[in-house]
Amino acid sequence: MPEAFQNTPVIDFSRRQNRAQFAQTLATVRAQFKERSRKRGTGEWLESLNPASPREIVGRVRVAGIDQAQGAIDRAEEFFYHWGVTPAKERAAILIKAADIMRSKRWELAAWEVFEVGKGWREADADVAEAIDYLNYYAREMLRLAAPRRTQELPGETNVYLYEPRGIAAVIAPWNFPLAILTGMTAGALATGNCALVKPAEQSPMMAVHLQEILRAAGLPDDACQLLQGGGELGAYLVRSPKIHLIAFTGSREVGLEILREAYTHRPGQEHVKRVVCEMGGKNAVIVDSDADLDEAVNHVIDSAFGYQGQKCSAASRLILVREVHDRFLSRLTEAVRSLKIGPPEDPRHAVGPVIEAEAQQRIERYIRLGKKEAKCVIEMAAPKEGYFVGPAIFSDVDPASRIAQEEIFGPVLSVIRARNFSHALEIANRSVFALTGGIFSRSPAHIDEARREFRVGNLYINRGITGAVVERQPFGGLKLSGIGSKAGGSDYLLQFLEPRTISENTLRHGFAPAEKLRE
Ligand code: NAD
Repeated sequence: MPEAFQNTPVIDFSRRQNRAQFAQTLATVRAQFKERSRKRGTGEWLESLNPASPREIVGRVRVAGIDQAQGAIDRAEEFFYHWGVTPAKERAAILIKAADIMRSKRWELAAWEVFEVGKGWREADADVAEAIDYLNYYAREMLRLAAPRRTQELPGETNVYLYEPRGIAAVIAPWNFPLAILTGMTAGALATGNCALVKPAEQSPMMAVHLQEILRAAGLPDDACQLLQGGGELGAYLVRSPKIHLIAFTGSREVGLEILREAYTHRPGQEHVKRVVCEMGGKNAVIVDSDADLDEAVNHVIDSAFGYQGQKCSAASRLILVREVHDRFLSRLTEAVRSLKIGPPEDPRHAVGPVIEAEAQQRIERYIRLGKKEAKCVIEMAAPKEGYFVGPAIFSDVDPASRIAQEEIFGPVLSVIRARNFSHALEIANRSVFALTGGIFSRSPAHIDEARREFRVGNLYINRGITGAVVERQPFGGLKLSGIGSKAGGSDYLLQFLEPRTISENTLRHGFAPAEKLRE
């Protein structure tokens, strides 16, 4: 039995020695780009670019065609007969070994993230730490679930309740937590005995290559987990396949809803209803109450709204200020934002890095132009010209029903809304089709209680930032159009990958079958 689960501590970059080691690792990783970009053989290739400097190719991967995807599905179907009955203990041991290997490569993996998706040092390291946690946590969770349980018994009857894997899982992941979310969904599928077909986001293919290499090094059989690189079309092919049993998806609302529609459509040859784990977007609000500690709130709001350029499903994109503190808080916040440095994240002095790609940059800039029509622009920071940078922007006097207050922008844009009082602030906060994270800053016990009851979000944070959920400590996932899964990193998560069975036996046999009868 492995030791009890423990979260992986993050690296302390306030220590000079750690800063020096990470700077050195960044240089070592950059020296690997050439080798990782080499084309071997023919076919279609996907280029991974550094969003801070898009002329720099970080790596290249071969795109999987539909034939290859079908071949992978067929191999997974065959291998499931073996993997699905491999004892949970063996599967868990492989995942725990993978966690150990990942830990030994954590500096390097974090450096790859800085280059591939433009994460700052701390954010990149936290993503790797979370990925290690998922491997360790789900391995142990499966050991807990693997033991068959006896349910209530009567004399002469035994009842056993047990879990079995579903079959083939398609894992479809986003780029914004390119290792953690990919690893979490993949580990969930593998720990429970499903074969996984892993389709990472086309913007972060290299992190998926690293995960695949680590799983192989840990002894995972090739056909238990096959990596298929490509875009939405490839994802859609997997979703529609009648041989796929389960889809673990994290991404946008639009794609999530499309996947749900496609997955629940029965197709010829399909002998089951697919199960969909679907985690989608957010439009998360932070409320600052009249008696809040404003100094504390300013730092947390900046971190929650502009950390990783606002490209987190959990990011704060609406700030609701109770009337009494509105002007004071807004001017403090604006001054603090003015001091943020923008530039390539490989330099740790830069608090704001690039957004993921040109398309995202253009989308966010369109929202900033819209914001100038819908509300008052309090600040729009200038951004470097080279690279996909967008300077943080804050809008005030935002109408809670306006588009910038309702649509997920997924960038460094914050909409500030004025509320008459705390209850009004809660009412505004709940006025969204999303309900992922939310937070309040308040010192009033009555208001904190009211928020606990009335603030309808999957993850509510009180007097702290609203991003950075930690495996097991803060199981993560949303309500309403933010998702339909059980929380990632929580004790119900693996149940979605399993099928429960009940076996009842009448043990009051009337004698034994005669031996000669058995031989017939
Ligand atoms: P996205 O929806 O564009 O893409 C996600 C994945 O789906 C990618 O791998 C993509 O190739 C694939 N895909 C695209 N079209 C598809 C289709 N028709 N069928 C099957 N697969 C398809 O999202 P993104 O831009 O990668 O990520 C950002 C989004 O993810 C944001 O909306 C963010 O809020 C959300 N997100 C949610 C959570 C959460 O836990 N709720 C976590 C991270 C990100």
